[in-house]
Amino acid sequence: MVEPQLSVVIPVFNEEENLPELLRRLIPALGALGRSFEVILVNDGSRDRSLELLRAAADRDPRLVVIDFNRNYGQHAAVFAGFESARGAVIVTLDADLQNPPEEIGKLVAKIDEGFDVVGSVRVQRQDSLFRRLASRLVNKATALTTGVQLSDYGCMLRAYRREVVQALCSSHEISTFIPVLADMFAGRVTEVEVAHAERARGESKYSLWKLVKLQFDLMTSFSVWPLRFAMLLGLIMSAGAMGVAVVLLGGRLLYGQQWAVSGVFTLFAVLFFFIGVLFFSVGLLGEYIGRIYMQVRQRPRFIIRSVISRKSQP
Ligand code: UDP
Ligand code: MG
Repeated sequence: MVEPQLSVVIPVFNEEENLPELLRRLIPALGALGRSFEVILVNDGSRDRSLELLRAAADRDPRLVVIDFNRNYGQHAAVFAGFESARGAVIVTLDADLQNPPEEIGKLVAKIDEGFDVVGSVRVQRQDSLFRRLASRLVNKATALTTGVQLSDYGCMLRAYRREVVQALCSSHEISTFIPVLADMFAGRVTEVEVAHAERARGESKYSLWKLVKLQFDLMTSFSVWPLRFAMLLGLIMSAGAMGVAVVLLGGRLLYGQQWAVSGVFTLFAVLFFFIGVLFFSVGLLGEYIGRIYMQVRQRPRFIIRSVISRKSQP
């Protein structure tokens, strides 16, 4: 079978109300691009009729592929499963709830054609509740700080990737991760386009506050080890402070005699804090090693080679 030029990956979790409309709009929108495509729908353990609908749709249209999870593993796991079976040269991710209009896919694909590796999207006129927008802004700031990857909209999943980047993602052996940030680490040229954003057509957001918090922890721990190093810094400051205090106490004792500073009780404190500092430092040092082990076990690819140029490879 020939490989399609474009793969669209869509995670689906209890979206029975949105699926018919999604497919009705998506297929013509993709057809209008004038290239061969496949749509990979990953059913992330839906408990409603989503799977039934997907199965019926796949029966009618050979360009649809349905992957069915045995339970709910989360949006990013679902997208990964889609990535693993995507065969297109360009891979686009999309939400099933029609918040990202499928008609905008063309814009992203055009950017990839211009030579970008990853194309993100920024939601203009975001149609979410105020609370959700504030939460997102907070998340965006924290993410930029902890990961060092600047994206203007981390939450928007309407994104296009070149195949090499997706392959690098698939060979990163880590369990919890955040796809947009990981992808940007492997991408040479990244750009963003503005896309329209609609209100969730039907159904409820599948992200509870707890799921958002969990996602944030994933983000923080999978892209930096500074929380582990924090103890080291704290210990260093504490020990240095305690040493300073000890010097002052010693000086006072020499100047004012034995009675100064409650006959040495404060000295005891200085010694104590010095050792507590040393303890913190050692915990931090352990953290440093654990951080390195953690980096190592993920086995992320170290680089992607775009091409090898030598005289032999030229005809
Ligand atoms: N989703 C999923 N598994 C989950 C949660 C969400 O596959 O555990 C899918 C969901 O069906 C949708 C997309 O991820 O296609 C985004 O979810 P949602 O619209 O609820 O997120 P929000 O727009 O509120 O951030
Ligand atoms: Mg949504």
